Amino acid sequence: MGTPIRKRPHGRRIDERFALHQCQPRADKLNARQREICRADPAFLEALKSRVGSPERFAAFLAGSPFYIEWEDSCKRCGDYKRRVRDRSCYGCHLKRGRENFERMKAGVAPEAGRSQASHLDLLERRRRERSGECIEKQFDGLLARRWPTGRLEIIYPDGERDEDINQRTPREILNAISHVPQLRQVLIWAGWTAWPEE
Ligand SMILES: [Zn+2]
Repeated sequence: MGTPIRKRPHGRRIDERFALHQCQPRADKLNARQREICRADPAFLEALKSRVGSPERFAAFLAGSPFYIEWEDSCKRCGDYKRRVRDRSCYGCHLKRGRENFERMKAGVAPEAGRSQASHLDLLERRRRERSGECIEKQFDGLLARRWPTGRLEIIYPDGERDEDINQRTPREILNAISHVPQLRQVLIWAGWTAWPEE
């Protein structure tokens, strides 16, 4: 009792120097917020650097790269040498998971083969509602998103450009769009794309 060092339930120390950031230097999950603080606060940068074991990982983190190379230890599952900067997990497996999630997500929106009579009627009903203009729309900092009954996700970008259905885009195209229009990430989360894309 009476010690100035606060502990979290799981026993990690809180460094009071960084209380104002409301973020502690933690190496287990490196994220954009920690990178921002590193750029603003050299003490935070030093503290975090000392907790990140790998200089390659830390350099990649500061540079904003999603991966770094771990030559000493390739992935047991896929053999990739790339690791995610975020949490040191395998980058190759991560990409594969992302692609699978994307395929599953698209499959949920637009099933092709083997559609039953009931789901066929359901689709007709959804199309009818869509034609009648029924949709949910929401603004995201200048971007307008519309979710349509058929699963179509329409985007009207801040510059006026319109995408009829972002489901038709490849993961790469979507990531590229997010790099230009960051609020698109919030749109995807709003539309239930919880697995994609990760930060
Ligand atoms: Zn792997």
